[in-house]
Amino acid sequence: MSAKLLFGKPIQEALLEEVAASARTIIEAGQRPPHLTAVLVGGDPASAIYVRTKTNKSREVGFGSEAIILPQETTTKEVLSTVTRLNEDDAVDGILVQLPLPEHCDTKTVLDAVDPAKDVDCFHPHNTGLLVQGRPRFAPATPAGIIELLERSDIEIAGKHAVIIGRSDIVGKPMAMLLLHRHATVTICHSRTPDLAAVCRGADILVAAVGVPGMVTKEFVKPGAVVIDVGINRVADRDQAADILGDSADWERFEERGYLVVGDVRPDVAEAAGAMTPVPRGVGPLTIGMVLVNTLAAARERRGVGGES
Ligand code: NDP
Repeated sequence: MSAKLLFGKPIQEALLEEVAASARTIIEAGQRPPHLTAVLVGGDPASAIYVRTKTNKSREVGFGSEAIILPQETTTKEVLSTVTRLNEDDAVDGILVQLPLPEHCDTKTVLDAVDPAKDVDCFHPHNTGLLVQGRPRFAPATPAGIIELLERSDIEIAGKHAVIIGRSDIVGKPMAMLLLHRHATVTICHSRTPDLAAVCRGADILVAAVGVPGMVTKEFVKPGAVVIDVGINRVADRDQAADILGDSADWERFEERGYLVVGDVRPDVAEAAGAMTPVPRGVGPLTIGMVLVNTLAAARERRGVGGES
């Protein structure tokens, strides 16, 4: 058996086209386009790439967008004052604080300060509460993107057993809620789950959001299961990359960059799974797409327009 690969790009393109069409309607109605502002603290290269991609994609769909880049040594108080300014700026519909913040910054305090109506990452406790109650204002981008991927790939969720490895506030927990609300039976696993592989073998849909390269092996996967790999891990050790990726390792890229991006799932899981997302080019593009869907929703809610995106 060889799994069908579920690529994120075509679904991202469909999402962006839908968002762009809605943005055009807003502009044609004489209103200004939705506006997304990203806040980046420090010079982490991966974070800078994420922010640039989000602002570029925003502009591609006709949104206004910019990034506020603050120096590494910015204090929590200074980040809070930027967030407050953006909260008060009526021209800003969505605020995105790129994580991780530098260690000296109090991440929870900063995220709690974002106006819930502009919280397009859905990290504010108010929005988390709405999500848990099954009446989300926004859904966190990565898990919401995975739902889009499953639904648009005609993968049944209702009645299935979904197992999620990882219980973070950003991926694992909201993923569980979104699957539960679509009538899956949900199990959440974490670092204290005994016999993880056996629990995972019960899954019709297995979501790995761990951050441990290549942790999920064929032994974790029921034949024919759908496997979603959220992990984005940089592996700079050649032997480790060779062990996980086998023949699929792109050594040219390794030489060029000094590392390879590897998921939480080993590529040879494709021999057991019915469908799976590759890394890269699987879940990643959907996260960006859903941030824009949420920004559109924020703009509509703030302007009292309503309706579907
Ligand atoms: P966190 O580090 O916040 O959470 C990781 C979770 O995995 C924790 O719940 C932890 O358990 C669990 N875990 C760690 N080790 C094990 C283990 N050996 N066995 C079982 N469970 C384990 O990570 P995130 O949720 O933020 O991210 C997870 C991965 O997804 C990362 O690789 C990240 O880069 C990637 N990611 C990708 C995105 C995308 O757009 N594709 C977006 C966001 C994240 P415990 O709680 O017990 O410590």
